[in-house]
Amino acid sequence: MIEINATDRVFVLTGAGISAESGIPTFRDFKGLWRGVRPEDVATPEAWARDPRIVWQFYSERRRQALTCKPNPAHLALAGLERQLGERLFVCTQNVDNLHEQAGSKRVVHMHGELFKSRCERNCADTPFDDERVYRAGEEIARCKCGGRIRPHVCWFGEMPYELDAIFNALENCTVFITVGSSGLVEPAASFAIWAGRNTGAPARRYYIGAETPANYVYFDKCFVAKAGELLPALFRAENNVEPSASPSRASSRR
Ligand code: NAD
Repeated sequence: MIEINATDRVFVLTGAGISAESGIPTFRDFKGLWRGVRPEDVATPEAWARDPRIVWQFYSERRRQALTCKPNPAHLALAGLERQLGERLFVCTQNVDNLHEQAGSKRVVHMHGELFKSRCERNCADTPFDDERVYRAGEEIARCKCGGRIRPHVCWFGEMPYELDAIFNALENCTVFITVGSSGLVEPAASFAIWAGRNTGAPARRYYIGAETPANYVYFDKCFVAKAGELLPALFRAENNVEPSASPSRASSRR
């Protein structure tokens, strides 16, 4: 059981494991290869420069697959926690799927982008937009009105994750840090536990929930080895949020 008291500020980081029971494969379950290519070799700016059609075929398949998936009890449990804690809960996901939103979560930060959004490759004035389009082999890539090609709004290997200022502000001011279904191998998320609670004067209480012990287990006070969908619905005992807490101040700035 994770106790959350009436003044706690809770940071939840989710990874591919939370969506595994919904049918979206984790990195490892993906078996490393897509048409003989590693995802690491197709999800890069270099791959886009070389052959954007292949990149879009990869993401088109991810879109087709994700469209059939539904949130599982772990996503629903976090949506329920948001209803109880309001602004005292910050959910940051490494996932590009939209299962948190489908479950009813309203304020999820997607640090690696969103599968069902696209944007101009030139990062022109147009912001990322909702997009479910899928491309067939050899099909022309759509263009922005500025002339740039439309690319997936996904953070590729070698690119900077999104919203790091907001993420570190919430991290450094949280009192409870929870990671769900993340191997602890992919940075910067693997090091978030180190920063949790840095500005509060006391270390955050840090918990991990996942199918196996993560690589970064030393940073957690307790690891619950279990499937997220089976454990999360019964894991939290949260005191209701009567007064939304004031926004924490950003006391230090490292980036
Ligand atoms: P990862 O694939 O490296 O690790 C997944 C972790 O989830 C593993 O530690 C595994 O033990 C655990 N797990 C598997 N089934 C679980 C379950 N039912 N309940 C709880 N835990 C379970 O994922 P990562 O650490 O998130 O890093 C990989 C990168 O690839 C991230 O950027 C990730 O978001 C991205 N990715 C995203 C998706 C998605 O959007 N759903 C899918 C695959 C990969």
